[in-house]
Amino acid sequence: MGKINRCERKIKYLILGAGVSGLSFANNVRNQDYLILEKNSEPGGYCRSTVRGDYVWDYAGHFFHFSRPDLKKRFREVLQSDDIVYRQKNTKIFYNGQYVDYPFQKNIHQLEKQEMIECLCDLFEKHEKENYDSFLDMLYGKFGVSITEKFLKPYNEKLYACNLNLLDVEAMGRFFPYANLSEIIQNMRKSNNDSYNNDFLYPKEGAAVFVRHLLNGLNPDLVHLGEEVRSIDIDQKTVVTESNTYHYDYLISSLPLNCFIRLIGKENLLEEHPLSFNQVLVLNLGFDKPSIDRDIHWIYIPSPDTNFYRAGFYNNIIGSEKLSMYIEIGYGMEEIITSEIIEQQLEQTLDNLHRLGIIQDHKLVDWQALVMSPAYVHITKDSNQFVKQLMNELSEHQIYTIGRYGQWKYCSIEDCMVDAAEVSKRI
Ligand SMILES: Cc1cc2nc3c(=O)[nH]c(=O)nc-3n(C[C@H](O)[C@H](O)[C@H](O)COP(=O)(O)OP(=O)(O)OC[C@H]3O[C@@H](n4cnc5c(N)ncnc54)[C@H](O)[C@@H]3O)c2cc1C
Repeated sequence: MGKINRCERKIKYLILGAGVSGLSFANNVRNQDYLILEKNSEPGGYCRSTVRGDYVWDYAGHFFHFSRPDLKKRFREVLQSDDIVYRQKNTKIFYNGQYVDYPFQKNIHQLEKQEMIECLCDLFEKHEKENYDSFLDMLYGKFGVSITEKFLKPYNEKLYACNLNLLDVEAMGRFFPYANLSEIIQNMRKSNNDSYNNDFLYPKEGAAVFVRHLLNGLNPDLVHLGEEVRSIDIDQKTVVTESNTYHYDYLISSLPLNCFIRLIGKENLLEEHPLSFNQVLVLNLGFDKPSIDRDIHWIYIPSPDTNFYRAGFYNNIIGSEKLSMYIEIGYGMEEIITSEIIEQQLEQTLDNLHRLGIIQDHKLVDWQALVMSPAYVHITKDSNQFVKQLMNELSEHQIYTIGRYGQWKYCSIEDCMVDAAEVSKRI
């Protein structure tokens, strides 16, 4: 057997992963010595899109909502105005055979009378606490039994695919739509369902358009696609792939933190601090006819009788003709999503779409299944402390983990870009 000649290279900034986080970091050091290693043959990570026939699909809807005006301005500048749509979010909850505005807790007045009375009475009788033990404890404490058990608990259990007592109170951070009693009562008179993603921008050709713009600022030779990281030696400051060994000054990783820990040979840490997460099976569906409702952007479905927790309407968002949907189905981290399971889920989804009145005599023309794993990380009390401590230790070795999965948190594309910029400034 001949020995493979490994190439050795020295890089100042070695960046792992060509998703939004890795590409944003690279843009911040683009005039210096950098290199990105990406295992997939395509860049973008979860911001990849598929354009097939009449349909444009993402890894579940990837909409751009910016809290920072400078980033929003930049997004608008880099994309032609004809290529992007700007939407005021219109989302609904499908609850007990009717649509209710999102968030549920602020729209209980839209429920049937008896249901509304139950929610309202429990809201007055809730037991608020100074400190909550878990996310579920917080839901009961802040919203009472009925709101929690009619929507918040079943919906989040479907999404996170775990017992909600596992999750930290702040598991969803700024993304959780809190509302106090007076806001709930006021909403009955005058509707105000404002949230972090009240309005959003979206490229008509999918989220990948934005990734292409991030790539424009980079030298394509410095984005190594199809090059998977196999191991990392943090003392020797080397990264090994199938045929190369890289020596770095700074290592910037957007890889899921659990994978990164294994790559640095510290899997024993995961026994003490298991970093759990859910997986999301995304079904992208293209039909032959327009949607029945032309205005809704996406819906939330708390009922355990329906296999999916969220479904979105690309065609209503980009203004295209034929019904084009994404369906999100939550799974636990250990579950193996086989092709048989995917076929069964597709069948169930079509039945449920009929039952919900979303399709009638629509014919499925094309479809695609994608698995996001990890999708939503489980933020627990332990994971928060562990990740913070680990990141501190790694920074002493000039290693910085960035992004939603690198820092094991709940965040948006914008947050990933901001983090990447901050780390580059800090270094
Ligand atoms: C269901 C769902 C819906 C979402 N919707 C929105 C939304 O509407 N708006 C929004 O702002 N955000 C949304 N997000 C969040 C958004 O997807 C993330 O914040 C963002 O895409 C994360 O980018 P990243 O670059 O940090 O990670 P990733 O996109 O995961 O990129 C990491 C990269 O590392 C690569 N990699 C992994 N292992 C290796 C290895 N060993 N060697 C080399 N490369 C490797 C991967 O292939 C990948 O390309 C959503 C997330 C989910 C789960």
